Amino acid sequence: MPIADDIDDVRARLAAARRPAALAGAGLSAESGVPTFRGAGGLWRRYRPEELASPAAFARDPKLVWEWYDWRRGLIAKTEPNEGHRALAEIEARFPEFWLITQNVDGLSRLAGSLRALELHGNIWRMRCTGCARTLENRQTPLPELPPACGNCGELLRPDIVWFGESLPPGVLDKAFIAARESDLFLVVGTAGVVEPAASLARLAKANGAFVVEINPDETALSEECDISLRGKSGETLPRLLD
Ligand code: NAD
Ligand code: ZN
Repeated sequence: MPIADDIDDVRARLAAARRPAALAGAGLSAESGVPTFRGAGGLWRRYRPEELASPAAFARDPKLVWEWYDWRRGLIAKTEPNEGHRALAEIEARFPEFWLITQNVDGLSRLAGSLRALELHGNIWRMRCTGCARTLENRQTPLPELPPACGNCGELLRPDIVWFGESLPPGVLDKAFIAARESDLFLVVGTAGVVEPAASLARLAKANGAFVVEINPDETALSEECDISLRGKSGETLPRLLD
């Protein structure tokens, strides 16, 4: 549990903020039962996510990569937003200019009611054609055939997710940088901060005068840069900022 004085301090800062923003990572969804990549349960068969979530892996063995995504989609389909997702949606309700920048692909923030969620890494319920580039939403789990093919042109479909080594969707990234730069209170929730642009966004917020608050049970690569680290789970800590 985080120190009560620190919670009180951040609660007061949030109440007085004009433009809060938040950056979220896999830890936000951990209490919903979605495994983080680096935590227990992050491994599938003998593979590390870095070996599967890449263009090279997909080129080599699209069926294997799809089996992994099909397994993750099945896990996520059984989960629900937690109190942390709901608290962030409540912050949006109180601050109409709030932006939630998320690295998560599970869609749980939108389910919780966050309409202003910038999904930096895409969404696991969307697919994109490697031939005609058409995107489509598909919530079927398990998928009847792996790898799935495009109904339009017959080429392979891929998850509409940003893989290691790929660039982020420019429109979304631009909005995220503006949100970080213009924020006066920046929450860094459940992210290890080792995948860019997480570190850059936190640094940019701070360089432009934001008070930066980390919410994470463990120390991270970003802890040093934060003004306060609330050491606790996001599902327990975020709601206390709204009491
Ligand atoms: P990460 O797995 O590297 O780190 C997770 C962080 O969450 C850690 O710092 C950990 O201490 C913290 N954490 C664990 N439980 C927590 C809790 N209850 N409350 C708050 N924090 C908690 O995740 P990352 O930094 O987000 O980066 C990994 C990449 O993997 C991301 O780019 C993301 O796209 C992808 N990913 C997404 C999901 C998802 O969509 N839910 C899940 C796993 C990985
Ligand atoms: Zn196609």
